[in-house]
Amino acid sequence: MINQAKRQVKIAKKQADKFAALLGNRQNVLITTHISPDGDAVASCLGAYGLLRSLNSNPTCCFSDLPPDRYDFLPDFDKIISTDHRSAESFKTALILDCGKLPRIGKVERLLGQDPIIVNLDHHEDNEWFGRLNLIFPEAASTSEILFEVAKALKIQISEPVATCLYTGHFSDTGGFRYSNTDSRSLAVAAELAACGANAHQIATSIYSNNSPANLKMIGEAIASLELHAGGQVALMTVASPPNGDEAEDIIDYALSVRGVRAVALIRLRDSQIRVSLRGRDLVNVAGIARQFGGGGHPKAAGFTTEDDVTTLRAKIIDALSREVETRYADADSKD
Ligand code: 5GP
Ligand code: MN
Repeated sequence: MINQAKRQVKIAKKQADKFAALLGNRQNVLITTHISPDGDAVASCLGAYGLLRSLNSNPTCCFSDLPPDRYDFLPDFDKIISTDHRSAESFKTALILDCGKLPRIGKVERLLGQDPIIVNLDHHEDNEWFGRLNLIFPEAASTSEILFEVAKALKIQISEPVATCLYTGHFSDTGGFRYSNTDSRSLAVAAELAACGANAHQIATSIYSNNSPANLKMIGEAIASLELHAGGQVALMTVASPPNGDEAEDIIDYALSVRGVRAVALIRLRDSQIRVSLRGRDLVNVAGIARQFGGGGHPKAAGFTTEDDVTTLRAKIIDALSREVETRYADADSKD
């Protein structure tokens, strides 16, 4: 049987035209994303940087948190600046990528003028539709995939640097084509981007074989901290984040790789703040749990930041994940 992907990101001509009308031919357009930017966030912004230049604009990529050095292989990486280099109300127009809620752009928010024109392009289900144009497709495996579809709808020739960025974002958010958002559609997008010049092998090497020795030791600490709960269905890892924030994004996947595990949490201690990443397998949905703690994300990958006491927090997380697994699988069992 042919296993056809059901999902499809279809950009209407009207939407693509509005994208070009709002963001093309402009001297001063901001491109930004969420705080603690991940692969899809950084790479989609740099892909957009190239695309907006094709639309005769002069964009600025400005982030609240500078991206981790591990993405420095991306074209135009050095063009990303931090908010310190811009004064308040610098931009009237902004393209915000991979970010479900406006406050998640962090300090960049004060660079927006009064009543800014925002294009909100994202694949988070809980996106708050805060833009004048909202290109929200939860069915997309990555924000980079949506941008790719916008470029195609606008018939923009995708250059090799743009293809490299969009492939990287897409590759990161599918966990290197291993997560449940990997299907014939996401692989077809990757194939098209490879045909436009993205070098799949080089990008995979840059992402997965680019750890600093300190980083690898941190991964070791995280793995050593692994604990299992709920009869081995819930896993928890705790690690102290390095001060430069340059850490592998896939540390949590080690917890999810344990046989029988259905829900996992990675607790990262950063000074007074604690960042928590959550992942679920199969029936488990962690987005609701992240929301309970003031965060958000996707059904299978979500997170939040808190200043809660770590001992209390751990107990709360174990409890929430155990309940989620129990409920989902009790429902599933009763349907058998
Ligand atoms: P990660 O665990 O890789 O940091 O995040 C997984 C997913 O959850 C990403 O899609 C990310 O955007 C989302 N996410 C992580 N932390 C937060 C948060 O504090 N708020 C919201 N709204 N989403 C988050
Ligand atoms: Mn994303």
